[in-house]
Amino acid sequence: MDGAAPQPERGVTASRRCDVMVIGGGPGGAATAAFLAAKGHQVVLIEKDRHPRFHIGESLLPRSLPLLDELGVHDEVRRIGVLKPGAEFISEDGSREAIFEFRRALRDGPAHAYQVRRSEFDQIIFDRAVALGVEVQQEATARVVSLDDDGASVRTEGADGEKIDWETGFLVDASGRSTLVSKMLSEKLPDPRNTSAAIFGHFRGVPRRDDERSGNIRIYLTRPGWMWQIPLRDDVTSVGFVAPGEHLQTRDGSIEAFFDAHCARHPHIAEMLASAERLGPLHATGNFSYRATAAAGARHVKVGDAYGFIDPIFSTGVHLALTSAREASIAIADILAQPSTRARRLAQYHDEIERRLKFVSWFIYQIHDPSFRKMMVNPKNILGVERAMISLLSGDFRPDFQIRWRIALFRLFRYMVAATERQDRRNPNG
Ligand SMILES: Cc1cc2nc3c(=O)[nH]c(=O)nc-3n(C[C@H](O)[C@H](O)[C@H](O)COP(=O)(O)OP(=O)(O)OC[C@H]3O[C@@H](n4cnc5c(N)ncnc54)[C@H](O)[C@@H]3O)c2cc1C
Repeated sequence: MDGAAPQPERGVTASRRCDVMVIGGGPGGAATAAFLAAKGHQVVLIEKDRHPRFHIGESLLPRSLPLLDELGVHDEVRRIGVLKPGAEFISEDGSREAIFEFRRALRDGPAHAYQVRRSEFDQIIFDRAVALGVEVQQEATARVVSLDDDGASVRTEGADGEKIDWETGFLVDASGRSTLVSKMLSEKLPDPRNTSAAIFGHFRGVPRRDDERSGNIRIYLTRPGWMWQIPLRDDVTSVGFVAPGEHLQTRDGSIEAFFDAHCARHPHIAEMLASAERLGPLHATGNFSYRATAAAGARHVKVGDAYGFIDPIFSTGVHLALTSAREASIAIADILAQPSTRARRLAQYHDEIERRLKFVSWFIYQIHDPSFRKMMVNPKNILGVERAMISLLSGDFRPDFQIRWRIALFRLFRYMVAATERQDRRNPNG
C-alpha cells in the first residue's frame, strides 16, 4: 500500500484506512480489539449483527478469569453470571456421576468460573472495547478483498447499504465459524475425527439443586453423543445435545420431535425436562470441527473459532478465543513496534494457539470411546491423575511438567482399560 488514499469505486460511499481491523465482535474479536486499544493502537471492529444477540457457548472456564481481569470486565461478568464451581459427568444409564471441582486443580488458579448468557457476556466485552477507544461498526458485514505483504483490503456493507472500502495495516479474522480468511485462502480443513452437530435451546422450570453444586455444568453421556445442562440466571437452563452428524441426518420429523426423542434416551434428562417450558425455538448447528492450516499470514492472524473449532464437551471455545485474542494482540503490538520481528512473531503465534488446541484434541477424540467414558464417570486420583484432569477441565492448556506427566499417565490408563475390556470380551468366562 502506498500513502495515497484509494479512490472510491462505484457504489462505494467511502474509502478509509486503519492500523488494525478486527472482523467479528464476539469474545475473540472484541477482546483482541480491546487489548490492542489498551496499548494505544487505532483499531476498527466490524460486527455483522448488533449486540445483544443470541450466541451459543455459555459455560466459561476458570482460567479465563485472569483474562477478564486484564480486560477490566470481571465484575460485570460476575454480575450477569451463575457461579460455576465445577463440571459433572453422568454415565449413559444415569447410575454414575463424577464431580470435578475446580478448587482441586493441581496448579493454583481460580476455583470457579461462570455460566453466562452470551448475549450479555459478548456485549460486556464489546462495550469494553468501545470504552477503550475502538471504533466499531455493527450491522456491517465485512468481505476480505485482498491480503498481501503490506496489509489487507476489506469491504464492509452496512444494513443501510453503505459500502466502505478499507485499507488496513493488519487484519484480525475473528469471524467465528464464518472463517472468512480460511475460506478465502482455502485453508480450512474439516476434522474427520469429530464430525458432530448440535441441537439446543433454553428452558424454564428445570429443577435445580439448592447447594453449591447448583451452578455446575452437567454433561450427560448419551448414545450417541452427549448432552449439556447449563444453569443460567432467572431460572433459565440451557440444554443441548451433540451427536455425530450421521445421527442428525436420520431426522425425518420436526427438530423439536427429534430433540425430545434424543432427550428420552437419558433417564435424567427425560425427568429433568418433564415439567420444563421451552423458551423460544431450538437452534441447530452442523459441520462441527475444523482447523485452518495456518493461524497467521503476512499481515493477518486468526483468532478463536476463525482458526479452529473442537467439540464443546469441555467448554473450551470461549477460553480458546480469549487466550488467542491475548496472544494475537501481543504479537501484533510487537510487530507494529518492530516490523523486523514479523515472521518470527507470527510463527510463534501459530505454534502457541495450535499447541493449546492439540493438547485438548486428544481428549475430544475419545468422547465416544467406552473406555474413556468409563474413566470420566469413575475418576481415580491415582498419583494425582484426577487432579491433573481437573486442571485440564479448568482450561490449563499450557500445563507444566507435573500436569503433563499425569495426563500422559491418564492416556496410558485409558489404553490399559481398553485392552482389558478387549481381553474380557475375548474371554467372557475369564
Ligand atoms: C453447540 C455448541 C456449544 C458450545 N458450548 C460452549 C460452551 O459451553 N463454552 C464455551 O466456551 N464454548 C462453547 N462453544 C464454542 C463457542 O461458541 C465459540 O468457541 C466461541 O463463541 C468463539 O468465539 P469467537 O469470538 O471466536 O467467535 P464468535 O463468538 O462466533 O464471534 C464471531 C463474530 O463474528 C461475526 N461475523 C461473522 N462473519 C462476519 C462478517 N463477515 N462480518 C462481520 N462480522 C462477522 C459474527 O456475527 C459473530 O458475532 C459451543 C459451540 C457450539 C457450536
